[in-house]
Amino acid sequence: MSRHQTDHDPNSLSFDEALRRVTEAVTPVAGFEQLALRAALDRVLYEDVVSPLNVPGHANSAMDGYALRADDVPGEGERELTVIATVFAGHPFAGEVGAGQAVRIMTGAMLPAGADTVVKQEQTRVQDGNVIIGAGHKRGANVRHPGEDIRLGEVVLARGRRLTPADLGLLASLGIPEVKVFRRPRVSFFSTGDELRSLGETLDEGQIYDSNRYTLHAMLARLGVELIDMGVVPDDRDAIREAFGTGADCADVLITSGGVSVGEADFVKETLQTLGQVNFWKLAMKPGKPLAFGRLGDALFFGLPGNPVSVMATFYQVVQPSLRRLAGEIGGERLRLRVPCAEPLKKAPGRLDFQRGILERDGSGQLVVHSAGLQGSHVLSGMSRANCFIVLPADWGNVEAGTLVEVEPFAAFV
Ligand code: AMP
Ligand code: MG
Repeated sequence: MSRHQTDHDPNSLSFDEALRRVTEAVTPVAGFEQLALRAALDRVLYEDVVSPLNVPGHANSAMDGYALRADDVPGEGERELTVIATVFAGHPFAGEVGAGQAVRIMTGAMLPAGADTVVKQEQTRVQDGNVIIGAGHKRGANVRHPGEDIRLGEVVLARGRRLTPADLGLLASLGIPEVKVFRRPRVSFFSTGDELRSLGETLDEGQIYDSNRYTLHAMLARLGVELIDMGVVPDDRDAIREAFGTGADCADVLITSGGVSVGEADFVKETLQTLGQVNFWKLAMKPGKPLAFGRLGDALFFGLPGNPVSVMATFYQVVQPSLRRLAGEIGGERLRLRVPCAEPLKKAPGRLDFQRGILERDGSGQLVVHSAGLQGSHVLSGMSRANCFIVLPADWGNVEAGTLVEVEPFAAFV
């Protein structure tokens, strides 16, 4: 490939280096709140949760059947045992199962004293009120043992865990009514651009509706942060300066879109330089090459590009991981799949490319990825049609149909 066809910019930071710098600059917010379990879904644990109980607390039956002594299981043939009681879950049996005896038992019911084994109902016959069992039942069969699921004193969920529905069930099963979680990060954001109008306003010639504030609002809302929508700020040095001050003062993070290119009215980088510190402002990803990252007082600053698809790609790839970290979250590797692409893809070497794709099954049931259509960074309809990013390494050129490519399903972004 000849030089002029490459997309390489020596002043751009590699994507990995940019992510490393962002990660290094972000530490979890200080401060926590104590929440009732139902209110804690999707929040991040502030401290380890240690189990105050064994789960299950007592040996109990995993099946409907008969509880008995393993010593009474015949070596061969059959044996008849006297049924002395029936026990239900929540109603323990006060007596003891002796030799030659059995207790009819329901799933979840406490194993009676004396018994150590449960034989499934389907493997028994009842005759004259007695139960007949065959050979081959193992000692301890169909018994759930105390602490088998969780042991007393064990760390069940660690600090940094974002709580799922299963986690809340688990905490409830331990009788834990409240948890300590990190406070939510506060994020302020605004759009820049003289051409932008908000919904409800009429468009004059050359004007467009602001869409970035709506995608940003939605992506931030899904992360569960506190939002401060500051509206549209015109391409005016003083107005931008003032909005920077207000936005950074009231939040942990300020996010802007637009005004980071090298055009004459692009004041974002300049303002960051004057009022704060620029860490980097160009990274080798597509879409989204101009992306300013730095600090404004105590706040982190992300100056996203203006194009709507660039906003979403840079948010998901760079801002979201840092907001998760800021929120106290630890881990959470993103799901990537390797699948064949169904058609050729255009690409110039130089930048890590996040093309918009549609992951689906072909006629033979194999997962493949299609291009979601026009790949311009202004084509929001393609982003809306897409269900994944197709991640193409920086040094790749055009991709032939059938090549194995990495995809990131959007479902993995939450
Ligand atoms: P800029 O980086 O400000 O030069 O913007 C790049 C492109 O994105 C231009 O075509 C802008 O009109 C467009 N753009 C910037 N901000 C928004 C926005 N909030 N909503 C929709 N399009 C935008
Ligand atoms: Mg602009």
